Amino acid sequence: RRRTQRERLLAANREAARFYHENLFTPQGAASLAYLRRRGLSDGVIRKFGLGASPDDWSVVSDRLLQKGFTLDELVLAGLTVRKKSDNGKDRYFDMFRSRAMFPIIDAHGNVLAFGGRTLEKKEPKYLNTADTPVFNKRKGVFAANLLRQQRHLDRVILVEGYMDVVSLTQFGVEGVCATLGTALTNEQARLLKRYAPQVYLGYDGDSAGQHAILRGLEILEQENVPARVLDFPDGLDPDEFIRRDGAEGFRNLPAISPAAYRLRRLKDGFDLSSQDGRLAYARGASEIVSAVDPLERDVLLGQLSVETGFPRETLTEQMNLAAKKPVQQRM
Ligand code: ATP
Ligand code: MN
Ligand code: MN
Ligand code: MN
Repeated sequence: RRRTQRERLLAANREAARFYHENLFTPQGAASLAYLRRRGLSDGVIRKFGLGASPDDWSVVSDRLLQKGFTLDELVLAGLTVRKKSDNGKDRYFDMFRSRAMFPIIDAHGNVLAFGGRTLEKKEPKYLNTADTPVFNKRKGVFAANLLRQQRHLDRVILVEGYMDVVSLTQFGVEGVCATLGTALTNEQARLLKRYAPQVYLGYDGDSAGQHAILRGLEILEQENVPARVLDFPDGLDPDEFIRRDGAEGFRNLPAISPAAYRLRRLKDGFDLSSQDGRLAYARGASEIVSAVDPLERDVLLGQLSVETGFPRETLTEQMNLAAKKPVQQRM
């Protein structure tokens, strides 16, 4: 039987992944290996994720795959090779990934769909990712779906931003970690995650971009009825930086905040609570957030709000009941 195009592209990706991985342990991959080790990765986790090294060369990977019988068209379609038409009409081509530490993106069935490649120096882009191809849609998959599939019994999935966050948390023994692929969380991904665990923890970077992405991510998860929590990393750290600083113990002790509590905290940051106006505006906004949660959590949050704003619970409850009657225009 002839293989379908999809099968051939997946086969090309698999060959490339094997090559990158083996290459990591040769002199040609030494710089990438040194880089990954400098980032604290063990050989065990490097093998678990099949990390690799793309050579510092124009076309070794393309040439090798051509030799194995793949066509240039297939390699270009798979995103492994870039073709340049030259003036004399002859095709020139070169490897898409050169001199980068390679992260294969593998689906739940073990298919290699695509790659992320990190520069070893301060080059742009920091991560080069396979563009969408006939076998890869970055809005539909997550990095480390293959490992999620193997970890049954998960009580939550932790969604992070970066490849390194996934690899690093996994090395520290955290289960159920995956990442979106350089895009914001999509509805398709939220539905995919629902298959692996009953709830999703958002563990985005502690910088302002990450914090902003959390609010958006919570909305998507809500739209898909996925129960969510937020891991709020301190000091602007990302999960990788945090777990290297505070260890697995520090990570386990991070509170998993409810969406409403997280939205309140973010709202609060925008106001000066030492002023009357600030307290009023915060209490008004907070009422809308609090009116959307169940009575038990509402009780907790009202207590907290009362301490923060100085308004008695009764007043806050009244305000909240007003808010509950209004249609919610804009959730934080
Ligand atoms: P590292 O720890 O290696 O510096 P990171 O994961 O902390 O990487 P971030 O800058 O926080 O890097 O970016 C988060 C994720 O966004 C990356 O893992 C990658 O998937 C994606 N990304 C970052 N920069 C780019 C880029 N220039 N082009 C495409 N995707 C990118
Ligand atoms: Mn970031
Ligand atoms: Mn990082
Ligand atoms: Mn980061």
